Amino acid sequence: MIIHADMDAFYASVEIRERPELRDRPVAVGGSAEGRGVIAAASYAARQYGVRSAMPTSTALRRCPDLVLLPVHMSLYAGVSRQIQAIFARYTPLIEPLSLDEAFLDVRASERLFGPAAEIARRIKREVREELGLVVSTGVAPNKFLAKIASDLDKPDGFVEVAADGVQAFLDPLPVSRLWGVGRVTGAALQKRGIRTIADLRRQPAEMLRRQFGEHGQQLWRLAHGIDERPVVAEHEAKSISHETTFARDIADPDILRAVLLDLTEQVAWRLRRHGKRGRTVQLKLRFDDFRTVTRAHSLRDATDATQAIWQTVSQLLDRELAQGIPPLRLLGMGVSGFDEDADSGRQGDLFAGAAAESEAVDRIADDINARFGGKVLQRARGCHKGR
Ligand SMILES: [Mg+2]
Repeated sequence: MIIHADMDAFYASVEIRERPELRDRPVAVGGSAEGRGVIAAASYAARQYGVRSAMPTSTALRRCPDLVLLPVHMSLYAGVSRQIQAIFARYTPLIEPLSLDEAFLDVRASERLFGPAAEIARRIKREVREELGLVVSTGVAPNKFLAKIASDLDKPDGFVEVAADGVQAFLDPLPVSRLWGVGRVTGAALQKRGIRTIADLRRQPAEMLRRQFGEHGQQLWRLAHGIDERPVVAEHEAKSISHETTFARDIADPDILRAVLLDLTEQVAWRLRRHGKRGRTVQLKLRFDDFRTVTRAHSLRDATDATQAIWQTVSQLLDRELAQGIPPLRLLGMGVSGFDEDADSGRQGDLFAGAAAESEAVDRIADDINARFGGKVLQRARGCHKGR
């Protein structure tokens, strides 16, 4: 079985843990309204006012004038993320993080030792709560796709198990929008054919879906039948490290897109450094509201794990696309690949020259101090990202 573990309102929950007096207040983490910032995370109290992530902070404050807005402390969250992953690692080495607060765990080989997957998930929930004072929602299912849906169904503090013989019964009543890749456009096209639930979709002939939606239609058919054969890939074996986010609503605002991209970049750079990996190729991924997906890549002369170098490259890739005029985005992602065989050898030579070396040194010192002190000491000044 696979477990998908996803922290509840992660950035906001970590901040509230640091300041218990905020417990019942609507709290959000994000950029300032004056700086045209966006919300990175909102507590459940804030969500009751309609505050959502990737929403302009000015809109959030209009919806909830009492909102407690806190700046993003990426290195704090990265430190806590490391502690969460250490709890996961008690039960399996097969951990595939999707972001700082979300991971797939393949526990098939662990069940003999620790009991059924559901029992492992319950232990993880308990340990995260008792040791870190945070809440994680879990989905337990025969594959990644089902586990991910399951972890989301009962948030916050969710626990949903999908038994191998209960897949159809689990999927059938859900709206098709629960499926990967069903956004506004595909959802509307399906609705026009009277397809609203996954059960409706499952009853369609595979051939019809393929004719109507191409390759994507085949994928939909497979998902509607609960089929997903992708393995859990442990990060240290991965050929690339990437992170992407799907928006609840399509987004065209360049400021929001840049803010989200910076958040993705910080997470990816942190994961590179954590695994001692340095990559040469920086990739940007865009999916438009019509479901077209494009990727853009740029290769650097020297492999890097520095937030600043990666951000410069990936933000230029985005700016180039924005300058051409692109449709609203449904998904934004970025990643780094082309890893150095021997990461340490790359640290010599001219990489240590000038500003790049300085920026790397900042990353390393911050990571190091945060690792030693549980991650609440240093944060990267947002100002150093102003290079647009
Ligand atoms: Mg989460």
